[in-house]
Amino acid sequence: MTQIMDGKALSNKILNEIKEKTALLKTKPGLCVILVGDNPASRIYVKNKEKQAQDAGFNSTVYRLSENTDKNELLRLIDKLNNDNTVDGILLQLPLPKHLNPYDFLDKIDPKKDVDGFHPVNAGKIMLNENPYAVPCTPKGILTLLDEYKIQIEGANVVIIGRSNIVGKPLAQLLLNRNATVTVAHSKTKNLSEIAKQADILVSATGHPDMITKDMVKKGAVVIDVGIIRDENGRLRGDVDFNSIKETAGFITPVPGGVGPMTIASLIQNTYSLHILRNKL
Ligand code: NAD
Repeated sequence: MTQIMDGKALSNKILNEIKEKTALLKTKPGLCVILVGDNPASRIYVKNKEKQAQDAGFNSTVYRLSENTDKNELLRLIDKLNNDNTVDGILLQLPLPKHLNPYDFLDKIDPKKDVDGFHPVNAGKIMLNENPYAVPCTPKGILTLLDEYKIQIEGANVVIIGRSNIVGKPLAQLLLNRNATVTVAHSKTKNLSEIAKQADILVSATGHPDMITKDMVKKGAVVIDVGIIRDENGRLRGDVDFNSIKETAGFITPVPGGVGPMTIASLIQNTYSLHILRNKL
């Protein structure tokens, strides 16, 4: 029987824990989210982040900037937030409008306020297996979920499909740091099915609905579906053909209710930890 990994329930548990710990603090953690432009998916994600931060008892601010914001204006805002002592976490919502290059901004965020863990200092610390100020939220959420379900990471064959800087690459490094044997596959990978079928833990982060089918999954494997795609009927879908796999996989994350809520829980955990760290509490 396939076990469903309930990211929603675990996320709620984590969010409640943080809320209780925050209520005991004299000062409130502060999260600032910067949204540039009108990307509809980003607007929903930002609203959810704002709500969860408020529910946790944080100071939660969203800066909604227009689509044609110029580079200097955004740099000035980041500088202002870096110097604001009430701000613990700064999140620049991606993607940015085409005329702005995210890497012109991500390395301007103070690494100690880099709540998404995308600053080169934090990426470098993960690479060196040192403690970063913050671990990227989606990979962190996946590790928390694997640990909750007591999935053996050390020695496991892990195949990650997708090599983005926000999911695939940091996750590969974090799992390597936990002594897994990690293969990263991508759009140019040959024989993807054969490679995927070797996995004890298969993670898919491509954004292609139903791409992972039964023939790609080893019996009993743990299948983590990172993909979020809204189909033509407005329904949320993942990368994994859930129904075809559910008798084969040992564990599987649903979409929605799997990795998505864990990403939010990690963001709230990161904001709280950065507050504790900066205030030496
Ligand atoms: P991206 O769009 O930057 O990159 C996609 C990756 O998939 C690339 O590395 C590409 O090489 C690979 N890929 C594409 N087609 C492939 C194919 N046919 N075979 C093998 N590899 C292929 O990726 P991203 O930003 O990491 O997002 C991926 C998906 O995960 C999207 O659906 C996104 O919405 C979702 N996502 C979800 C969360 C969450 O919290 N659940 C967080 C981040 C991203």
